Amino acid sequence: MKVAYFSMEIGLNENIPTYSGGLGILAGDHIKSAADLNIPIVGITLLYKRGYFIQTINPMGHQEEIYPYFDPRAFMEPLPFKVTIKLEGRDVHIGVWKHNQAGIKGRVPVYFLDTDLPFNAPEDRLITQYLYGGDRHTRICQEMVLGIGGYLAMKRLERDITTYHLNEGHAVFLTLALLKDLDGSEEKVREKCVFTTHTPVPAGHDKFSYQLAESILGDYLPRNIRQLAGADQLNTTVLALNLSRASNGVSQLHGEISRQMFPGFNIGHITNGVHHLSWTGPEFMGLFDNHLPGWRENPQLLAEARKIPDDEIRRTKLNAKKRLISYVNGICAAGFTEEFLTICFARRATAYKRATLIFSDIEYLSNLALDRVQFIFAGKAHPQDEAGKLLIEEITHIAKQHEQKLRLVFLPNYNIWLASLMTQGTDVWLNTPRRPREASGTSGMKVCFNGGINMSVLDGWWREACNNRVNGWAIGDDEDQSDDEAVADLYKDLEDMVSTYYASPKQWVSIMKNSIADLTPVFNTHRMVMEYMHKYYI
Ligand SMILES: *Cc1c(COP(=O)(O)O)cnc(C)c1O
Repeated sequence: MKVAYFSMEIGLNENIPTYSGGLGILAGDHIKSAADLNIPIVGITLLYKRGYFIQTINPMGHQEEIYPYFDPRAFMEPLPFKVTIKLEGRDVHIGVWKHNQAGIKGRVPVYFLDTDLPFNAPEDRLITQYLYGGDRHTRICQEMVLGIGGYLAMKRLERDITTYHLNEGHAVFLTLALLKDLDGSEEKVREKCVFTTHTPVPAGHDKFSYQLAESILGDYLPRNIRQLAGADQLNTTVLALNLSRASNGVSQLHGEISRQMFPGFNIGHITNGVHHLSWTGPEFMGLFDNHLPGWRENPQLLAEARKIPDDEIRRTKLNAKKRLISYVNGICAAGFTEEFLTICFARRATAYKRATLIFSDIEYLSNLALDRVQFIFAGKAHPQDEAGKLLIEEITHIAKQHEQKLRLVFLPNYNIWLASLMTQGTDVWLNTPRRPREASGTSGMKVCFNGGINMSVLDGWWREACNNRVNGWAIGDDEDQSDDEAVADLYKDLEDMVSTYYASPKQWVSIMKNSIADLTPVFNTHRMVMEYMHKYYI
C-alpha cells in the first residue's frame, strides 16, 4: 500500500506559506501523523512563491495584503528533472521540490510543484505564484498543474502508488490523466482514487465552463465528460465523486449534508482531527510528559488527564495564558490581564462564520464583560471577499468606539503561529457559524489540547464532541437557528460561563479536564489517519 495525497494547499509550519486556512492545515496534520505512524504516504501540492498574503490592518480598519517573496531553498530541495504538460496547446514545464516531513517513527516526502522556471512563458511562470489568487483561468491552470503535473511527477518519483487521495476536488484532473493511462477504463480509475469533500457551501465546489475546460485541458477531456462532471458546467466535485471508489465528508453532519447535496453517491464520513504534537503548547506538553508519559506516541493516553491535580492544570493554563496576554499587550497596548476570563474568536473572516454575532447587543455585552471578560479576535478575509473584509472593519470599529467599556482587540495576520498562541493561551474558544456550513472546523480541537474550553454552535465536529456544560458549552440545540435565536442562546451561555468561571473555580477546572480527557483522544489526526487507513486506503 502507498498513498499519494494531493492537496491544493499543505500547511506544515509557519515558515512555508503554502496554506490559507483549515484545508491546508488539515493536510499538513494528516502528513505529520502519517510520518509519526510510519504510514506510506507522499504529499503533492503547489509551491506558491508569493504564498497566501500577510495581513495588516490600516488605521481605518481596512485589511491590507502584502505578498512577500518566499525563498523555498531553506526548507526543501529542487529535484533534478522537470515534467511537462500541454496546457492550451503550449508546453508548460514544472519543477519539483522535495521537503521531508520527519515524524516520530518515519518521514513523509512532500512534493511542491513549481512553474516559475526561466524557460516557461511569463504568464505560465505565474501559475503557481499565488494561492487562491487570480481568476477562473488561473484556477483551472493551477488545478491542471496539480492534477496532471502531479500525476506525471508521481510516475517519475513514486512508481508504486496504490491509492490517489484527492483532498478536495482541486486535484481531480489527475483522474483524467489516469483515465488515459488506463485505456479509458473508468472502473480502473475508480479502483485507484478516494475523495474527500470539505465544504457544504456550494461556492466552495469548483466549477468551470466547458468552453474554458476544453481550451485548457484539450485532449485530456474524455468524450463523455458531461456525463461524468455535470451537464452544464464541469463540476470538479461531481467528477471526483464519479471517478473515486470511496468518498467522504469530514464530520457526521457534513456527511449527511453531502449526501443531500449529491444524491446517488455513496458518501461516508471521517471526522477531522489535529496533530497533537503540533498544537499542544510547551506548557501542556510538559504537564502531559510528567503525568501521562507515552502520550506523544499515543494521544489516546490523554483520556487519563482527569488524574492530573487541579492546581497543576490551573497553573499550566495560567502560564500559557500569560504568553498570549503579553503578546496582546505588546501589540495593542490593551492593558489585558491574565486574571480575566479570556475569550478568543479566530477564523477566516467570511459571512457564514458570523464573527460579529456576539456584538449584536453591545450594551448588554459590555455590562456582562465589564472588569471580567476580555475578547481577542483575528482572521484574514480572502482578498476578493468584500463581505469578509467588512466584518474585520466592523470589529475594529467596535473595539475603538467602545474602548472604554469593552476589552476587545483584533490581532492582525492570523496564521499557524498566531493560531498556536491563541489556541494555547485562551480560556474559551468561541465559534458561531451558521449551521450547517462548518464542515468540521479544527481550531477548537487545538484548544482542547491546551486545557481550553469550547463554546460553539452544534455544527461540524462540535456536534459530535459536545457534552453541554460538562466538556464545554453548546450554543443552541441540534438544529439550525436564525441569527436572533443564536444570539439569545449565546448570551444565555455567556452568563452561565462567566458565573462558572468566577463563582465555581472547581467546576471550571473539571470542565477543562473533561475537555482534555473526553475530546483529545478522539479529535486528533492519529485517529483520523488510522480511520482513513482502515476504511479507504487498504
Ligand atoms: C486550525 C486553523 C484553521 C482552521 O480552523 P477552523 O476551525 O476551521 O476555522 C484556520 N487557520 C489557521 C491559521 C489555523 O491554524
